[in-house]
Amino acid sequence: MSERGSVSAQAARAAEMDAADELAGLRKQFVLDDVVYLDGNSLGALPVGVPGRVEDVVRRQWGELRIRSWEESGWWTAPERIGDRIAPLVGAAAGQIVVGDSTSVNVFKALVGAVRLAGDGRDEILVDATTFPTDGYIAASAARLTGCELRPVDPDEVPSALSSRTAAVLLNHVDYRTGRRYDLPSLTSAIHSAGALAVWDLCHSAGALPVGLDEHGVDLAVGCTYKYLNGGPGSPAYLYVRAGLQDRFDSPLPGWNSHADPFGMSPSYAPAPGALRGRVGTPDILSMLALEAALEVWDGVSIDSVRAKSLALTDFFLECVSAYVPEGRVESVTPSAHAERGSQVALRCADAGAVMKRLIDQGVVGDFRHPDILRFGFTPLYVGFAETERAARVLADILN
Ligand SMILES: *Cc1c(COP(=O)(O)O)cnc(C)c1O
Repeated sequence: MSERGSVSAQAARAAEMDAADELAGLRKQFVLDDVVYLDGNSLGALPVGVPGRVEDVVRRQWGELRIRSWEESGWWTAPERIGDRIAPLVGAAAGQIVVGDSTSVNVFKALVGAVRLAGDGRDEILVDATTFPTDGYIAASAARLTGCELRPVDPDEVPSALSSRTAAVLLNHVDYRTGRRYDLPSLTSAIHSAGALAVWDLCHSAGALPVGLDEHGVDLAVGCTYKYLNGGPGSPAYLYVRAGLQDRFDSPLPGWNSHADPFGMSPSYAPAPGALRGRVGTPDILSMLALEAALEVWDGVSIDSVRAKSLALTDFFLECVSAYVPEGRVESVTPSAHAERGSQVALRCADAGAVMKRLIDQGVVGDFRHPDILRFGFTPLYVGFAETERAARVLADILN
C-alpha cells in the first residue's frame, strides 16, 4: 500500500474508534486545546471543575469562614475522605488510604513501617534496581535507619532473591521509563510465601489500570495523584495500609495529626486507629481540595473500561508508528503483551531529546527520558484515537 493510502486507512480507523469510544464524552471535563497531550503520566490535564472549587476554597472557606473551615468545610477529615475516594480506583475498601505528603515521604513511611512489621531476624530490603530514583534513595536511607541491607534486584528476579532474611520488597506496578507492567498478584504472593511484606508504588498505574490492592493482599502501597489522577502539580500523594496491619503499623513519622487524640496535646504519642495512622502534620488543604475536585471526573467511570481503552490506544499508536515510521528508526521498549503493558509507549530513538523538542514544537507533547527514550503517556479519560494517529504521523514526518 502506498504511504498515503496507509495513512488514510489509519485515519479512517481512528475516526471509527473515536465514534465507538464510550469514554469520549469525558474529554470535555478537561481543559484542553489542539495540542495532542501525551504527558498525562507526568502531569495530568486540568479538570474543568477544579478552578471554581479552588476559588471557593480560597475565597469563602478560607477568606470568610477562616478557622471554622477545619470543621465546617471538612478540612480536618479531608485526608481520609479523599483516600476513600481514591480507594475504589485501586481496588481498596474504605478506611485504608490517607492522602498527604509526597510520594517520596510515603515511600519512607511505608518501607520503614514494613520493616518494623516484619518478623525478627529479617534484615534485608529488596528494591527494584530500575526504580524511579527517589524510591531507590529513600529505600537506601530506610535500610540504614532500620539496620537492614538494601539489595537492588531486577523485578523479574525477586522470587529467586527472596529469603528468610527479607523483611520488605519495594516494587513499581508499572515502570516509569519503559511502561512495563509487573505481575502484582504473583510477585505479592511470592513475597508473602517468603514471609516478607510487599510495598507497591502505584504512581504509573493508579487511574490507568486496575490494581486490586485488597484482592491480592498487598501490604502497603503508595502513589502520586498528579499523573493519571489529574490532581495538579505537586498534589498530595497517598498511603495504603492493609486493614489487617493497621493496628501494628508503626509509622516512622508519627505527627500530631495521627495521634489518637490530636487536640489532647499530650506529650506522649498514642497512634490513632485505622488509616489515620499514616497522617503526619497539617495537611496541604489547597492542593488536597483541588485533588478532591479533580477526582469527581471519575464518578461513574469504571477502571476496567479505562484499561480497555488504554490498551486500544497504545496498540493503535504502536500500529501507526510501525505503519508510518521508517523501519529501524525507533524501537519500542514497551512490551507488546497486554499483561505486561502499562498506559504508556516508550520508544528508543537515537536523537530522542532533539526529536521530542520538535514534536512539542509541532503540537505533540510527550517527554524525553534520559538517555534515549521518547515517552508517550495515554490518559484514556481525555486522549482520543484521531489524536493518537496524528501523534504517530507527526513523529514519522520528523523522522523521515
Ligand atoms: C512520579 C513518581 C514519583 C514522584 O515522587 P514525588 O515524591 O511526588 O516527587 C515517585 N516514584 C515513582 C515511581 C514515580 O513515578
